[in-house]
Amino acid sequence: MEKNFDAKIIPHISIERCVRCGSVKNGNGWVKNEVISESIDRLLRKNIKITGDVNTEWSFEIYVEDESNYKVLISIVAERDNALAEKRLETKFTIKNTICDICSRIAGDFYASILQVRRNTGFSDKELKVIEGILDKLSTSDGSNMSFVAKRETVRNGYDYYLGSISMGKKASRNIRNTFGGDIKVSSSISGRSDGKDTYRITYCVKLHPFRKDDFIYIDNRVGIISSMSGNIIKVKFLDDGKEKRYDHSTLRESRYLGSDEMVCNGVVISQDRNEAQVLDISTNNIFTIIKPFDITYPKDIKLIKTEYGNFILDSVISEI
Ligand SMILES: [Zn+2]
Repeated sequence: MEKNFDAKIIPHISIERCVRCGSVKNGNGWVKNEVISESIDRLLRKNIKITGDVNTEWSFEIYVEDESNYKVLISIVAERDNALAEKRLETKFTIKNTICDICSRIAGDFYASILQVRRNTGFSDKELKVIEGILDKLSTSDGSNMSFVAKRETVRNGYDYYLGSISMGKKASRNIRNTFGGDIKVSSSISGRSDGKDTYRITYCVKLHPFRKDDFIYIDNRVGIISSMSGNIIKVKFLDDGKEKRYDHSTLRESRYLGSDEMVCNGVVISQDRNEAQVLDISTNNIFTIIKPFDITYPKDIKLIKTEYGNFILDSVISEI
């Protein structure tokens, strides 16, 4: 029987709970007044996959890790032909704060802060995922039960997020800035009065640098390619001598974005000596001379970029092009 009986569960299950009324999401609907053990029971039924022609019974134990994380141990006992087998599984439940459809309709435009993320060269799907991931994480681990995204909007050059708390806006803006590099501008407006005091809505505008890895930029009067970005450190490889220099996000502010891989074109080296090379630009049939930055023999077919600051052969400067 051991061979036929198997049970599986995904390692992580989210419980989406409304911060206003406590309703828990169930498919496309919401369940009112459901205690945590009921939510876990319901979601286990949905997520435990049992294979094998057996009768099973299961039980589970909940271990509270903190107010939004629960470890759950499951024991599944299978019976067939009067023989018993047991499988033990483990999974983790995390409560994700959100706002249910009804409350969001009642509350209308309830939010405490706005997170604006902007970049004038736009965002890739992967980058949007990173941003959403940062907000997702804060929705559960922020500590404050008002950490949720009430509304998302796509705007020109970026996204607006309407958030349930000010601290979530503060943390998210810093996290996104540290991930991509850029500046944060904070502004506030009076949103109403409560207990005789003005209440404020805070806007965190994160203006990200236009750069990404492999972008060409003009900095320190030279043309370079961003060879790596991590945290606050950006490495730029200069196209004239192939040497790398480290910058931080604030110094990069002085630079100019030139373009990305769409700038790269094909060329042919017609002749070369120790000091220079004659290069044919295939796209325009123009021939120009490139002074060699160091002692190198170029291959016949080369990749190059043309900029207002000069033309550069990428071979030998960049390993993968
Ligand atoms: Zn609700």
